[in-house]
Amino acid sequence: MAGTRAPGFVFPKPNKKRTSGADDVDCGDARAHNASKKSMLSPPALGLGTCCMDPAAALANARHEFGEHGGVNMSIEASATFTVMEPETMRRMFAGELGPDRDFFIYSRHFNPTVLNLSRRMAALEGTEAAYCTASGMSAISSVLLQLCSSGGHVVASRSLYGGTHALLTHFLPRACNITTTFVDIKDLDTVKNAMVQGKTKVLFTESISNPTLTVANIPELSRLAHDKGVTLVVDNTFAPMVLSPARLGADVVVHSISKFISGGADIIAGAVCGPAKLVNSMMDLHQGSLMLLGPTMNPKVAFELSERIPHLGLRMKEHCKRALVFATRLKKAGMKVVYPGLEDHPDHELLKSMANEDYGYGGLMCIDMETEERANKLMHQLQNYAQFGFVAVSLGYYETLMSCSGSSTSSELNAEEKAFAGISPGLVRMSIGYVGTLDQKWAQLEKALNCQTQLIQY
Ligand SMILES: *Cc1c(COP(=O)(O)O)cnc(C)c1O
Repeated sequence: MAGTRAPGFVFPKPNKKRTSGADDVDCGDARAHNASKKSMLSPPALGLGTCCMDPAAALANARHEFGEHGGVNMSIEASATFTVMEPETMRRMFAGELGPDRDFFIYSRHFNPTVLNLSRRMAALEGTEAAYCTASGMSAISSVLLQLCSSGGHVVASRSLYGGTHALLTHFLPRACNITTTFVDIKDLDTVKNAMVQGKTKVLFTESISNPTLTVANIPELSRLAHDKGVTLVVDNTFAPMVLSPARLGADVVVHSISKFISGGADIIAGAVCGPAKLVNSMMDLHQGSLMLLGPTMNPKVAFELSERIPHLGLRMKEHCKRALVFATRLKKAGMKVVYPGLEDHPDHELLKSMANEDYGYGGLMCIDMETEERANKLMHQLQNYAQFGFVAVSLGYYETLMSCSGSSTSSELNAEEKAFAGISPGLVRMSIGYVGTLDQKWAQLEKALNCQTQLIQY
């Protein structure tokens, strides 16, 4: 193709719709004639490498989009609507004959070119055939569930989930959609298996590394159990981008809150659904698609900003993970109750090691169990206001350390019984370890706060 510099580098096509004086639909191309009901996002358009197990290699292989004038960065397509030269083209677009894989766009609540470019990177990151980005992690999760389940449908889900997802499954979906959920201990594979009812259960939902207890899901086994019963395995990989690639381990769909590590700036709310092209296209269907019809649309300006951050996601993850491992190891040695799957005595350490992509580490989150909420709050107060170690705030994946007491914050949607069932102690402090400053400097601050408050570190 003219303008192609190297495999994977696609130079911008001349603006064919304008320069040709007509909508150039490649009439000499046989594809144009048998394109009827051709999928809107056909897999070849995604530019995926099929070989790469390392997500960094897959990202580098993905198509690099140049700007309109040859800029190294892609242009932002800020238009809500798109013109065609020939009115007849409009009918063909609405009939699904011409789609975004051939550069035909209708309206930005449907596919938008800039959002699609970011989505291609998300597909490359997760090794899925397709992906599409949304306005938030919750909209990605709710849209997938609503696409896969109809009224009367059943979900089996891990009992240890992000509070919003837990509330969606416990309260919202049963009331609004008659979709019910059985919560299970995701580590208990027999229970997971027995909870899935063939024909009724549509989705098995889990987080790859769970919030906030850092339990690791056995994705290959869960995938096998789900597929035996015709169930779709959906994995929320928000806690472990780059570290784990759930789709390569057997998950059918991977969802993300991009607001966390992938953004890294704590300044954007965004999400993504990564999965088969058939699912992503169905979510965009003009008559039945949850994304198209509920409309949790990502702004293309936001998509552009996020696409500039993905190239350094791997570097950031490595530093988050490296520091979390150092702090967890030292705190444990000092006699603290630390939860971190990178520690050898963590029950899921070997499992995580067997599934993880090489050299990224074991995740950027760790927990300190202070047993009571009062002690947890005292520790966080010292860490923020006395030692300047981090910020008391919910969320994760920021360059500064963020800490919160899960039981009274991000998991407060769970009642006392549900919290006990999910293994959330009232004094559990969740920390998303940042990478600013030097490691020694940050460790000294952490030590200072601990020394002054608990005298737990004794040398
Ligand atoms: C934050 C989070 C979500 C929700 O994402 P938003 O972008 O805030 O809507 C879902 N799952 C997990 C694991 C999260 O941490």
